[in-house]
Amino acid sequence: MIFPNGALVLFSGGQDSTTCLAWALARYARVETIGFDYGQRHAVELAVRPALLQKMRALSTDWNARLGEDHMIDLSLLSQISDTALTRDVEIAMQDNGLPNTFVPGRNLLFMMVAATLAYRRGLDVLVGGMCETDFSGYPDCRDDTMKALQVALNLGMATRLKVETPLMWIDKAATWRLASQLGGQALVDLIRSDTHTCYLGERGALHDWGYGCGTCPACELRARGYREFVAKPA
Ligand code: ZN
Repeated sequence: MIFPNGALVLFSGGQDSTTCLAWALARYARVETIGFDYGQRHAVELAVRPALLQKMRALSTDWNARLGEDHMIDLSLLSQISDTALTRDVEIAMQDNGLPNTFVPGRNLLFMMVAATLAYRRGLDVLVGGMCETDFSGYPDCRDDTMKALQVALNLGMATRLKVETPLMWIDKAATWRLASQLGGQALVDLIRSDTHTCYLGERGALHDWGYGCGTCPACELRARGYREFVAKPA
């Protein structure tokens, strides 16, 4: 069933947000996308977005009809005010506070707030994000409670009835591949495999069975393990 709502998908060009985009296209009458440039080391993920969107359109005439504007937002202020391994050329490591130094404090909070402001202007009433508590790297801004609290805060602060949807919240990476397979078949799985970007280091040298990447950073390890579990148990 297609809901009459308009959705804004936080679309980075990675595996998770591409799966979320397919999920939204299969569910809502109108879908727009938003991406953020915050000086990330893996800026290649921004470079893959336009071609990826075109190929998503080519997968389905229905998806093509529902997919609207893409909005690219400059959030370079994040790299000015924070110091993390995602925005600086330092080694990825665990910090004393138990969080990896790839954690960008406030990132998802800021993303959701900016997305809500854009949704307000565009008349969209659902925000879709790929946050996941199941195999997250301990990022507190990926937690379900964080997103639910944010939904309340945004609606109170803007007098809106926005809904924050996080379809990947309770599934692991293997199940995320399975969800892509259910939504768009092998064609979508193949597209995600070869055209999305996940690697924290921005490496796109070699195409592995699970996609491009360095193969050793936490994001690559998670993606590769999930893909192998998916291939072993596709449904
Ligand atoms: Zn990597």
